[in-house]
Amino acid sequence: MLDLLVVGAGFSGIYMLQRARALGLRALALEAGGDVGGTWYWNRYPGARCDIESLEYSYGFDEALQQEWHWSERFAAQPEILRYAQHVADRFDLRRDIVFRVRMAGASFDEASSSWQVTADGGRSWQARHLVMATGPLSSANLPDIPGRDSFAGPVFHTGQWPHEPVDFTGLRVAVIGTGSSAVQSIPVIARQARELTVFQRTATYSVPARNRPLDAAQEADVKSHYADFRARNAQTMVAFGASYPRNDQPVRQATPDDREAAFERRWQIGGLNFLGAFGDLLTDSGANQFAAEFVRHKIRAVVRDPATAERLMPAQPIGCKRICVDTAYYETFNLPHVRLVDIAGTGIEAIEPGGVRVAGCLHQVDAIVFATGFDAMTGSLLKPDIRGRGGLSLRDKWQAGPLNYLGLSVHGFPNMFTVCGPGSPSVLTNMLVSIEQHVRWITDCMVWMREQGKNGIEAETDAEASWVGHVNAVAGATLFPSCNSWYLGANVPGKVRVFMPLLGFPAYVQKCDAVAAQGYAGFHLA
Ligand code: NAP
Repeated sequence: MLDLLVVGAGFSGIYMLQRARALGLRALALEAGGDVGGTWYWNRYPGARCDIESLEYSYGFDEALQQEWHWSERFAAQPEILRYAQHVADRFDLRRDIVFRVRMAGASFDEASSSWQVTADGGRSWQARHLVMATGPLSSANLPDIPGRDSFAGPVFHTGQWPHEPVDFTGLRVAVIGTGSSAVQSIPVIARQARELTVFQRTATYSVPARNRPLDAAQEADVKSHYADFRARNAQTMVAFGASYPRNDQPVRQATPDDREAAFERRWQIGGLNFLGAFGDLLTDSGANQFAAEFVRHKIRAVVRDPATAERLMPAQPIGCKRICVDTAYYETFNLPHVRLVDIAGTGIEAIEPGGVRVAGCLHQVDAIVFATGFDAMTGSLLKPDIRGRGGLSLRDKWQAGPLNYLGLSVHGFPNMFTVCGPGSPSVLTNMLVSIEQHVRWITDCMVWMREQGKNGIEAETDAEASWVGHVNAVAGATLFPSCNSWYLGANVPGKVRVFMPLLGFPAYVQKCDAVAAQGYAGFHLA
């Protein structure tokens, strides 16, 4: 029997394998893709790029690894991040314990042996003491069920399932559906190739310029001279990144109008997600938020020449309530004569027909469609396989009213199962690499502790998980996050239960996890 079976060989899965092996645990990973990389294996759409700076979006667990790897840009593009994941797999010889091109079908917990029986499509199966779901919070593609979707005559793409061979849009009329991060990154690149580009927008988005550039050699050398300290400082911020641009805690109304504009402008010029750190109350006070929102709307008006298009591009929801996007020439792209914006707010898309996309009775003729429609976030990939815990309890049934777990790590009724960056943990509200490392360390330390203590079962207690979900929602409730239709709430997937899934605040979460472990896994039942 394996000590642990890991599902997924993205950044969570490969570090889980590496650390488990280093601690003397027998581990195996299953991966649906043909190689490591997870998100960065699947999301090969044009323009795909990280919105966390490269020097931060990388592992810190191995000093030699972080010294030897060189990033070429401030924000790395998908091919480079995938090469990094492959390098890690090579360096630690991880592929010998990964079964590729196999998709988990289901898993069931056997009480007698206190172990999981995991099955894959095709009938193969494995037995393991622990099941570790390292399936990623943004990996289950959301392909909307639009009438006639499958009748389209031309090629159809989803940004999260992009083909491996190059896609050439030269001479084609292309539709992009969606205006989230994936769309904002791909639209300017697709526009450079396509003969015509029509963007279908349901909700206008706030985007801040990336101001991407080649990585500065002096900055790289400086960070590498004290990398551990650099990472520790970043991990102490709420979002586990961006300590180089500290948040100004001052409320926005305490600043004079000139100082306010100057603060926003400074961050706009720096570029990237740190924009919302300009003042301390932008995500907790809707009046304060309006100042930042209006600043970006003003920028859109200044860039987009056609006033009607500019007006349609103006977001109305609080800024930051949906994850803000980071772009290179997104708004500028709408000045190109062959790019059009179709507002589908209120109407939605009526139908997809062989020749194009119909909205409000009007057929927009296109040759190819790109769905940049996001993911069934946080729970999608956990609920796709049929996972059955004690007494045959299904995770789908257990989570009918939303994900219920403790610390985003463990579910009552599902002993010895852990979720890496699951709902209820900070995950998507942080630098994912930092959250992944924290979870992997906590989970593997727990397994080692169990081995030393002679325990063979661990599972969240019901009270602990009920109060944890209450805590996650109370923390979010004190902010503007629940106030719009975001994927954080599951609002992007029709019929999905609305509950705020990620936890805000990385440092407090780490303290809580550490305290739980120090108290002999308080809130967990051990067998
Ligand atoms: P997303 O943010 O969920 O955006 C999906 C877009 O599709 C939204 O504009 C959404 O509109 C639209 N949409 C969904 N269903 C639709 C329908 N039935 N009809 C018309 N439009 C529809 O997905 P994403 O852009 O793939 O990004 C997801 C997350 O992945 C990001 O928030 C980010 O965390 C991560 N990501 C990061 C990067 C990066 O590092 N730069 C890049 C890509 C993704 P509504 O807003 O109205 O729902």
